[in-house]
Amino acid sequence: MSKVLVIGAGGVGSVAVHKMAMNRDIFSDIHLASRTVSKCDAIAASVKERTGVTISTYALDADDVEATTALIRQIGPKLVVNLALPYQDLAIMDACLAAGVHYMDTANYEPRDEAHFEYSWQWAYQDKFREAGLMALLGSGFDPGVTSVFATWLKKHHFERIDTLDILDCNGGDHGQHFATNFNPEINIREVTAPARHWENGEWVTTPALSYKQTFDFEAVGPKNMYLMYHEELESLAKFFPEIKRIRFWMTFGDAYLKHLEVLQNVGMTRIDPVIYNGVEIIPLQFLKAVLPEPASLGPTTKGKTNIGDIATGLGKDGTEKTLYVYNICDHEDAYAETGNQAVSYTTGVPAMIGAALVLQGIWSGAGVFNIEQLDPDPFMDMLNKHGLPWQVKELDGPLGF
Ligand code: NDP
Repeated sequence: MSKVLVIGAGGVGSVAVHKMAMNRDIFSDIHLASRTVSKCDAIAASVKERTGVTISTYALDADDVEATTALIRQIGPKLVVNLALPYQDLAIMDACLAAGVHYMDTANYEPRDEAHFEYSWQWAYQDKFREAGLMALLGSGFDPGVTSVFATWLKKHHFERIDTLDILDCNGGDHGQHFATNFNPEINIREVTAPARHWENGEWVTTPALSYKQTFDFEAVGPKNMYLMYHEELESLAKFFPEIKRIRFWMTFGDAYLKHLEVLQNVGMTRIDPVIYNGVEIIPLQFLKAVLPEPASLGPTTKGKTNIGDIATGLGKDGTEKTLYVYNICDHEDAYAETGNQAVSYTTGVPAMIGAALVLQGIWSGAGVFNIEQLDPDPFMDMLNKHGLPWQVKELDGPLGF
C-alpha cells in the first residue's frame, strides 16, 4: 500500500491528484488536504468522475505545524506532497519530521514579507532529515523540476562538460482575459517583479527586472519575446553543476501583460508591505490576488501551447563542441480535457506526481534534503514520456546569443 497525503487544492494539486488516481498501482490510497475543504471536495468529485477513484479530503491550515502533524499521524501516509504555497514549506517539513514521513514540494520556501526565493532555509534541514532517516525532495515541478532533470540528463548522456545553460520558459497560451496569471498571482507577480539574476563565472550578476529581452522562435508557438529573469532552479543548478560558466533563465511575456504589470507596480498594487485601509492592515499584492481571476478558472478558455526546455553548450561525450536543446510542448486544451486544468498547472502537477511515484516506490531514496539534480534523471525522463509530458532533443548550430 502506498498512501500519500497531498496538501494544497489549487491547479497544481488538482492535476497531481488526478494523475495519481490514474496510476493506482503506485498510489493506492490518496488523501487531499487544503485550507478550503470545498476545493478538495470539488477535485475529489472530478477525480471520481474521470477515474472512478475515491480520494479522502480534509480541511487543514498547513501553517499550523501541530494540526498538520496530527493529520499526518491520523492518515499515516508514506509521503507528504506539498502543493500549497511556498510560505508553508518549512511548517510542512517540520510536521513531516514530527510525524516521521517523507516530504516533497515544487517550490522553495519564501517568507511572506520578503520577495526572496532561496534554498538556504530548506537546506538547513539537511541534518534533521538525515538523522531521522527521511527524504525531503525539493522542487519536483517543471521549473524547478523538469528543467533541472533535463540538465542532469544532458550531462549524464551527452556532455563531458557543460559550459553554458539557458532555460527557456514559453507560455504561448491565450486565456482571453485582459490580465490574469497562470499560477498563484501573488507568487507569480513577486517572481516577475524581482530583479533579474544569472550565474556567470562563479558569481551572481544582478540586472533590473525585465531589462533584457530577445526573440526566440519556439516550436509549436512561434516567435516570442523572452526576458531574462531570476528563477529558483538557478541556485541549485549553480551548486550542483559548478563547471557551468553561465546559467540563465528566460520567460516569455506578452506586451499587454507587461503593460498591466507596469501600471499595477506604478500605482503600488504590487507592494508586499502592509498599508492601512479603513483602519485595517492590508497587503496590496494580496488584495490584488483577491480581485484577479483564480488561475484554476482559466482552464476552460485557455488555448495554445507551452514550450519549456534547456539549451546546453559544451564538450560532448564524442569529443566535439555541441549545443543541444531538450524541451517539452504541452497543449492547454488537451491538459484541460484530461484533468480540468490548463497546461501551466498540468506541467507542474505531472512532475509532482512523477517525483512522488519515484519516492514512494523507493526508486529515488536517501536520507536528507535532496534537490532533484542529485537524483538519477533516467526514470523521471521515462515517466515524463509515459504520463503526458513527452520531450524531444534537437541539435542547434550554436549557443543562445546575447
Ligand atoms: P494555487 O494558489 O492555485 O493553490 C494553492 C493551494 O494551497 C490553494 O488551494 C490554497 O488554499 C492552499 N493553501 C494556501 N495556504 C494554505 C495553508 N496555510 N494551508 C493549507 N492550504 C493552503 O497555486 P498553484 O496550484 O498554482 O501552485 C501550487 C504550488 O506550486 C505553489 O507553491 C507554486 O509556487 C508551485 N508552482 C511550481 C511550479 C514549478 O514549475 N515548479 C509552477 C507553478 C506553481 P485556498 O484555496 O484556501 O487559498
